[in-house]
Amino acid sequence: GQINGTTGYEEAAAQGLIAGVNAAHSSMGKEPFILSRSEAYIGVLIDDLVMKGVREPYRMLTSRAEYRLLLRMDNADLRLTEKGYQIGLISPGRYENFCRKRDAIARTIEELKKRQIVPGDRVDAVLAEMGSAPIRHSVSLAELLRRPDITYKKLQKLADLPDLAPEVREQVEIQIKYEGYIAKQEEQVKRFRRLEKRLLPGDTDYEQIPGLSREGREKLSLLRPRSVGQASRISGITPADISVLLVYLEKRRREGAGTDG
Ligand SMILES: Cc1cc2nc3c(=O)[nH]c(=O)nc-3n(C[C@H](O)[C@H](O)[C@H](O)COP(=O)(O)OP(=O)(O)OC[C@H]3O[C@@H](n4cnc5c(N)ncnc54)[C@H](O)[C@@H]3O)c2cc1C
Repeated sequence: GQINGTTGYEEAAAQGLIAGVNAAHSSMGKEPFILSRSEAYIGVLIDDLVMKGVREPYRMLTSRAEYRLLLRMDNADLRLTEKGYQIGLISPGRYENFCRKRDAIARTIEELKKRQIVPGDRVDAVLAEMGSAPIRHSVSLAELLRRPDITYKKLQKLADLPDLAPEVREQVEIQIKYEGYIAKQEEQVKRFRRLEKRLLPGDTDYEQIPGLSREGREKLSLLRPRSVGQASRISGITPADISVLLVYLEKRRREGAGTDG
């Protein structure tokens, strides 16, 4: 942490963890382990350090992450346990517990979207008791759960639903209530990933690419971003530079010399 210009316990620990994982991967001849900006704050931290540099001690503030609606504390296990398991940092027992939780969340959400409640006096009475408005036509249980005043426990009074572990219930409620916002951000992440996947070959000579701005050429030669996405986050790289890079990659791909992923 000190060497890379950050301050803070978590910042230092995060870099130590990734450095350790990658030292092990390197010695085993495995691909580097990289977390992206859309997967983890560690991804944001390292991408910022590598691409933006530091002029003052760097702190990991939530405002630095553009996808912070997805980088929530409540879903950290859903985002990262699979990856941790794949690199051998999660025990089989913990992984099994995680899979059970993940599957229970998915199953419950599917069930709530499928099951319909039809209007009627009994339903209206139960809703009124909960302080919620009556329904005019059939709605799914998921639609009801989207109401701010309805929780999973309250839904259990309207329909025969199983008891859930609190951590499963919490995720079901969050994922259904905020589905619209989450889906919008996932769409942005998809667009982001497309540019992250356009890898810039390590042997790219930016001096030889026509059309790049002078500043773009200098910064790209100095910082050598891994992907077009990473290049787009370097200050001074313009949208026109990005278009030039995409054309360059396409040309290389056609010539069959590129390693564009
Ligand atoms: C007074 C103070 C209060 C702080 N409070 C907080 C806080 O409340 N919350 C927070 O998040 N952060 C806090 N920080 C910041 C945080 O402590 C640091 O950012 C973090 O500990 C840096 O971790 P690091 O592993 O990069 O470096 P360090 O923890 O400094 O570790 C570097 C290690 O390298 C060793 N070393 C140095 N030179 C050599 C050498 N030549 N050979 C072998 N070993 C060597 C040192 O002895 C040291 O053990 C505080 C810092 C200070 C000074």
